[in-house]
Amino acid sequence: MDITLVQGDITEQRVDAVVNAANSSLMGGGGVDGAIHRAGGPEILRECRRLRETTHPDGLAAGDAVATTAGEMPATWVIHTVGPVYSTTEDRSHILASCYRRSLEVAAELNASSVAFPAVSAGVYGWPMESAAEIAVRSVRESSITLGEVRFVLFSAEAYEAFARALGQSTGPFP
Ligand code: ADP
Repeated sequence: MDITLVQGDITEQRVDAVVNAANSSLMGGGGVDGAIHRAGGPEILRECRRLRETTHPDGLAAGDAVATTAGEMPATWVIHTVGPVYSTTEDRSHILASCYRRSLEVAAELNASSVAFPAVSAGVYGWPMESAAEIAVRSVRESSITLGEVRFVLFSAEAYEAFARALGQSTGPFP
């Protein structure tokens, strides 16, 4: 399985599935969630509403994942996952790890061979980027699911560098 890094916008990725750092309501929000709904158009929210009316009346629990169409984005599916809000008093790493594991399981059920992840929980939910990157990389490496490509798509240079360090890649001038 190829694990790749890109600095850019996840909504523009040509992969089978893009992962959304959603919230439990599945009704949209800010950050990457807002960007995905804007780029994919109203069909994503329609499918999210349908999930709330059928299989997910109470919304999606933190650490779980569920798929919808990607609407007008180049990807075919959005896999919505809900990251934990960062806490200084409680270790919620296992919930963040579960986001990656469950998203890969859903991707495998869809027969997706390429999946793009953002840095789940590392925005509004406050997870320190260095730690978010380590948990993301470890969870994907330790997953029993292997796809063709898992791509981490990082918005900022700082986030990209944190993920590169977590992957064991050098980003400095010396190889
Ligand atoms: P959370 O609520 O799980 O913290 P956010 O959407 O606030 O989710 O942030 C998660 C990460 O996604 C942050 O590092 C943020 O900079 C990044 N992000 C925001 N928009 C995009 C985008 N269009 N593509 C890729 N990453 C994005």
